[in-house]
Amino acid sequence: MASPTKSESNQDDAKQYITEPWSSSFDPSSLSPETLYDMAVLLLQPSSVKLGIPTTKLRLFLSLAQANYRQNAYHCWAHAVHVTFNAYRLLQDLKDLESFDDFDVFVLLFSALIHDLDHPGHSNMMEISNNSKMARLYNDQSVIENNSICIAYNLVHDINLFSDLTTEMQGMLRTRCVELVLATDISPPSGKDRAMLVEAKWNAMVQAMGNSGGSVGSAASGGVDCEFKIVTTEQRQRVSIMLLNIADLGSAMQPVNVFSNWSQRLYIENNKSTGLTQEQHIKTQQPFMQYLCLPLLQFASKYPILKNINVYLNLLQNNLDTWNEMNTVKRCSVITAAYVVQPGVVQSNLVGNDVAMECVKGGVGAKQ
Ligand SMILES: [Zn+2]
Repeated sequence: MASPTKSESNQDDAKQYITEPWSSSFDPSSLSPETLYDMAVLLLQPSSVKLGIPTTKLRLFLSLAQANYRQNAYHCWAHAVHVTFNAYRLLQDLKDLESFDDFDVFVLLFSALIHDLDHPGHSNMMEISNNSKMARLYNDQSVIENNSICIAYNLVHDINLFSDLTTEMQGMLRTRCVELVLATDISPPSGKDRAMLVEAKWNAMVQAMGNSGGSVGSAASGGVDCEFKIVTTEQRQRVSIMLLNIADLGSAMQPVNVFSNWSQRLYIENNKSTGLTQEQHIKTQQPFMQYLCLPLLQFASKYPILKNINVYLNLLQNNLDTWNEMNTVKRCSVITAAYVVQPGVVQSNLVGNDVAMECVKGGVGAKQ
């Protein structure tokens, strides 16, 4: 019997990986770009086929999207596939999955895949303060997100990706995709102001869902066992926004080695663009979890949409506890552990980064 080709074995690996549960320590960033590509095909193909999008076009679009993600430590192709995979797993976890049709599924997964396309590796704030061409083009409004949508839709246009959809479907897909990607903008404020903003945003979202006919369970009863029916397109879009936000911030709600790896990648990216030190970076992670991720999950648990919301909450709490501990005496140990698991990432990403390398070389507590 002939042994499988390299491409066949990538596809087999990808098939296996997309069954990994949320709580596993599996991290797509350890995979080759080819296997990540195969994962992206497997995630998007079922819904796109049902919409009548030819698989050859989908595959071409995904290879173009891959080429248009920059080689950043954090906002890269691996992040795009990771977030798409998270969104896919969250969809499986919906209590009311039947309410999502193939179009809704494709809208969410497609938006996840493109949401950071051509990300420059620094913040909107930097684009705006530099008065960059991109900031001027988008009038300082969600600059990087607007750019991602623009680049993605240029690719869509170049290959006529959606030419088999009706004009009405193309319009609806674009409207929903634009709203979803723009909703991934998590620019400041920070700290407690951020928590208030998140809460206000989600309350407005629930109100919109309720107003359009949904049945929202009572928060006073803890919410988890309340009935929640997703009925209208507007409600499915609101839920999709919530799922994409969770998927995008998902590494903070995953096992500690996954979060450590992505946190370290973010540090490397920020260090390169702003000179942020590792110590400063670690201090940003606690408020990020406390005032952005936690309110988001608390919202999701108040209005019961996901079956395993407590799993995400527990994992987030565990990461919060770990980071609080790191802020005191052991700030390098977890990061070190993550890189022992994935030595390739250390070599490719930490070169030239003295502080992080000292942590990795020195082992637990090296920088105490
Ligand atoms: Zn992202």
